[in-house]
Amino acid sequence: MTSTGKSSSRTVDGFVSHVNGVFEHGLLTTFVRKNEIYVEDREYDIIIVGAGFAGLIAARELSRRGRSILMVEARDRIGGRTFTAQVDNERYEIGGTWIHWSQPHVWSEMTRYGFSLSESEGATTNQISLLFDNGTRLKTVSTADFYPQLFDLLNKFSNIDGQNGRTVLPQPHAPLADLGAIRAYDHLSMQDRLNQLSDLVEIDSEMYEVLDAYLSMNTQGDLAKSGFLDHLTFWSLGDYDTNRTWDKTSRYKMREGTSALAQAMLDDCDQVSLLLSTPIVSIHRTNENKVRIKTANGKIFTSRTAIVTVPLNVLHTIDFQPVLTEEKQRAIAEKQCSGGTKFWAKLMNPIGNWCGFAPYPNPITVAYTDDPEGYIVVGFGPDDALDIRDIQKVEHELQKFIDGCKVQSVFGHDWRHDPFIQSTWSWYKPGQISANLQVLQSPEPPLFFASGDISNSWRGCIDGALQSGLTCVRQVQEYLNNR
Ligand SMILES: Cc1cc2nc3c(=O)[nH]c(=O)nc-3n(C[C@H](O)[C@H](O)[C@H](O)COP(=O)(O)OP(=O)(O)OC[C@H]3O[C@@H](n4cnc5c(N)ncnc54)[C@H](O)[C@@H]3O)c2cc1C
Repeated sequence: MTSTGKSSSRTVDGFVSHVNGVFEHGLLTTFVRKNEIYVEDREYDIIIVGAGFAGLIAARELSRRGRSILMVEARDRIGGRTFTAQVDNERYEIGGTWIHWSQPHVWSEMTRYGFSLSESEGATTNQISLLFDNGTRLKTVSTADFYPQLFDLLNKFSNIDGQNGRTVLPQPHAPLADLGAIRAYDHLSMQDRLNQLSDLVEIDSEMYEVLDAYLSMNTQGDLAKSGFLDHLTFWSLGDYDTNRTWDKTSRYKMREGTSALAQAMLDDCDQVSLLLSTPIVSIHRTNENKVRIKTANGKIFTSRTAIVTVPLNVLHTIDFQPVLTEEKQRAIAEKQCSGGTKFWAKLMNPIGNWCGFAPYPNPITVAYTDDPEGYIVVGFGPDDALDIRDIQKVEHELQKFIDGCKVQSVFGHDWRHDPFIQSTWSWYKPGQISANLQVLQSPEPPLFFASGDISNSWRGCIDGALQSGLTCVRQVQEYLNNR
């Protein structure tokens, strides 16, 4: 039993912008709460900072092993970078969405709670709209002709070692197994690799732009600033094949929704106290090797250990005393480089099964329909290129792909400027995986660190958050058992 009750109401996160000019702040979702209940004035075994999937799996596993737990979350809901919103009685994933049966940790949760999959229709469309020349020239091609060419180039792009990347990441779930192998390529940016590919094979200018669009959608930003090794990690986890990587990252969703999974995991905890709407401002290790955390409203809680699961890009906002190791401070200060936009648009007229690509820095790099009729479009763009709150601007950008399309509403969440996230899915800069990943993962007992941003397997994904959380569970158990 957990110490919390279920509810469904409006979170402060997200927005809906309607064609009639009405702008609603906040989206309807499950498990939003403002009150604080069952939080005891006691020393806990573990304080977990952050109630995303890394925090939730740690809370479940450790509470079920008899540990006393306080979970403290800055926002008014659980789920972190994922939540299922209800808009006009339909459900939409505002953050993390697509999963796959070959992602072992998330699939295990699907099995545990009896969840099933649904499919995003546009991920397997027959036709694609390609936007060239700064969004001024549109071309429609059939996927049957086009995908084999694109995927062949992407396979070549990924084949950095002539062995499909297998010598670099022979065990995709253990990217740090051979640091020497990854160091040889970690200095490369995505743009460096694209330049190498252009020297190796003939790529016509249109195909180059499409490659750019596809890759920029993945990195959510400038290819020159994004590391090639993160691409290779996704590719190796996608069985060293572009087609399979696309299927694993962009096609299948949880039918029940990510919020339902987060809630199922919380319900499955044993005696976890949960504080929502409570940002942590400082984490101090005492002389007795205990943890004292301070909240923004001045409350102090103590524990034997803490698991810090806040996103990498906001770790710098917490005051750690004594300070963390010098190399961890450096890695935290560097951050990771993702931070684009994701939005949902409901159209007035259906457009069928559809997908569009445009190269960086077009405000929309990739968009596709999500429902069978084609009323619902999910879109992605780099950095701050598109103000997704502005329905007219979103409609204008979509019209470049779909002539005359009319948008009824736009909704999403500005993850990039969310003070407790400041990113989307993680993507490391050149050199950071070999220099920073292990550093960021390293415990500094009694502090432990978990996040989808620092996982080994499926980093940047829900699966990675679960893997990293589970790894922490083992570390914390060992630590507490030995004291
Ligand atoms: C737009 C978008 C699309 C994505 N698409 C996919 C996808 O299709 N498939 C996929 O698998 N993954 C996707 N991801 C990535 C995936 O959602 C994340 O990797 C995963 O959810 C991270 O989980 P986490 O527990 O590590 O971190 P988070 O979910 O970020 O949880 C960390 C929590 O810490 C809290 N926090 C921060 N600061 C403080 C503080 N000071 N005090 C207390 N709490 C704090 C935050 O509010 C947050 O709730 C996407 C992410 C985004 C944003």
